[in-house]
Amino acid sequence: MINSEQLTHYVFAVRTAILANEADIECLDRDIGDGDHYINMKRGCEAIAGLGETLTKLPLVDALNSIGMKLLSTIGGASGPLFASFFIGMSKTLKVNAPDSAMHIAAAFDAGVQAIMQRGKAQAGEKTMLDVLIPVAEQFNSLAAQGKSTQEIAVILKQVASEGLESTRSMLATKGRASGLGERVIGHLDAGAKSCQVMIHAVCDQVLN
Ligand code: ADP
Ligand code: MG
Ligand code: MG
Repeated sequence: MINSEQLTHYVFAVRTAILANEADIECLDRDIGDGDHYINMKRGCEAIAGLGETLTKLPLVDALNSIGMKLLSTIGGASGPLFASFFIGMSKTLKVNAPDSAMHIAAAFDAGVQAIMQRGKAQAGEKTMLDVLIPVAEQFNSLAAQGKSTQEIAVILKQVASEGLESTRSMLATKGRASGLGERVIGHLDAGAKSCQVMIHAVCDQVLN
């Protein structure tokens, strides 16, 4: 249902979308972080895009693992190891359950999100990327189990990602750099949540096109 060639298309679509959202991503981390989140995301996207043809030639699980390893060595900051854990977690799960159904892909996405939670020792409601990723993983599992079409799933997950991002506005931050700022963070969106919303929209738009 998904192969390395499609994964590579998604990677390029994600890079384009992150670059197109530079101003938003940059200013969110400047407001309540240290301002480097866009640079970190851009560096990661360029490094993965640089793998290019190599990725398409690998089996999907190896391509995902290579992306994870590349992110570990290229993105600095908190987000590098977290995104790396996501791809490595997905890869491990797809080794056991091949990506031949929406349910298996949803389960792998969920495993990737769980790997981020373990690595960052964080949960929902802490004003991080997880406030986008956790609800998306939950809905993805449930929609796949209901037998919804790929198109229906993509439309709904875009909506869930946007709601997840918006939910970070009223939250206090209890993880990451913003956690020292107390009530001052209320009213601001989380930068990592914004990046995840942008990436999920980019992938879903590829599915819908
Ligand atoms: P740094 O904070 O080290 O400068 P980035 O700016 O690249 O790293 O990434 C910051 C983003 O990482 C935050 O906006 C948040 O979404 C996410 N983040 C930080 N700590 C955690 C954590 N423990 N668990 C999940 N996500 C986190
Ligand atoms: Mg930062
Ligand atoms: Mg930093």
